[in-house]
Amino acid sequence: MSLKFPIYLDYHATTPVDPRVLTAMLPYFSEHFGNAASRTHAFGLRAEAAVSVTRDAVAEALGAEPREIVFTSGATESNNLALLGAARAGRTRGDHVITSSIEHRAVLDPCRALEHEGFWVTYLPPDPFGATSPSAVAAALTDRTILVSLSAANNEIGTLNALREIGRVCRKRGVLFHTDAAQAFGKIPIAVHEAGIDLLSLSAHKICGPKGAGALYVRALNPKVRLEPVLFGGGHERGLRPGTLNVPALVGLGAAVRLALAEREEEETRVRALRDRLEARLLSEIPGAFVNGHRTERLAGNLNIGFPGFRADDLMMGVRDVAVSAGSACTSASPEPSHVLRGIGRSAVEAASSLRFGLGRFTTAEEVEAAAERFVAAARRRNA
Ligand SMILES: *Cc1c(COP(=O)(O)O)cnc(C)c1O
Repeated sequence: MSLKFPIYLDYHATTPVDPRVLTAMLPYFSEHFGNAASRTHAFGLRAEAAVSVTRDAVAEALGAEPREIVFTSGATESNNLALLGAARAGRTRGDHVITSSIEHRAVLDPCRALEHEGFWVTYLPPDPFGATSPSAVAAALTDRTILVSLSAANNEIGTLNALREIGRVCRKRGVLFHTDAAQAFGKIPIAVHEAGIDLLSLSAHKICGPKGAGALYVRALNPKVRLEPVLFGGGHERGLRPGTLNVPALVGLGAAVRLALAEREEEETRVRALRDRLEARLLSEIPGAFVNGHRTERLAGNLNIGFPGFRADDLMMGVRDVAVSAGSACTSASPEPSHVLRGIGRSAVEAASSLRFGLGRFTTAEEVEAAAERFVAAARRRNA
């Protein structure tokens, strides 16, 4: 197969829709266009049936029940509903929330909003690899703590948190545990019961599904999680998320989930080998290059590398036909160095020298070799 440019290595920002997902979605734009809330006729029932298939698929992927799945527009909305909803509903029990300083903005910003409402939020510093230790969580818990929110995998450095151990710490103290699994869902196995997860956010467009569709898992039993809705306007999604469901996108979410599950192990092995190859070339051919994040406890498709003596922006300019990112897409509009890299102890200069490579389902070995060659050449040019 011949190489096509530009090469896409930014799978943490978003992913292409898998053609099989698109095929599943298409009839739901025109032929089966019904409103899933219209239970009085065949059009609505057809849409409702399709949405229900996705609800089953998402629930099964998490080891949960279909009634525990609330559809949203994506992980940002799921995080907002989880954090604002659980904190406000838990106000009579306490006013303390724990998270980490390197969470995605879709967790940090709702936490800031909670602080404005009078909640007290602890932002735990992660270890140098980007993980938050269960013992740090345990030490931060107080009698006023009602919620802990920690990502399953970090979106910049890919580091995985020890969900099961963190869940156990929370469970022992009767504190709710939310995880933003936008990056991890579909890539590592996550079982909500085993991991003691009470709330989990996921997004379709990070697993080769469409943008604008996601879900929040809300535990229904032991304990039954109570959430205050953030939006008002109808009884959809058990009163937690009103608004007409985006049926085609949710059909896409279901198809994406089924594919991710069926192909996860094979894909993980393949993507990890490509990532390791890219990592080995960049580390050996660019003097002083270093990896940000954990070397093993990280997403298979993630590679975040610092290039001492370079500015990541300049390197990217020199390699315009390979799409990578400096920091995350969500914050690259602001010139500040990545709060994640600063949070794991990198200096501002080190952070500004770092690039995130994200590999995924459609990344090929040829693309990885071409990308490595271009970055090595750009580094040599600048050093010459
Ligand atoms: C992409 C991402 C989000 C935002 O998800 P959307 O579906 O785009 O709203 C939130 N958290 C993490 C960790 C992400 O990677």
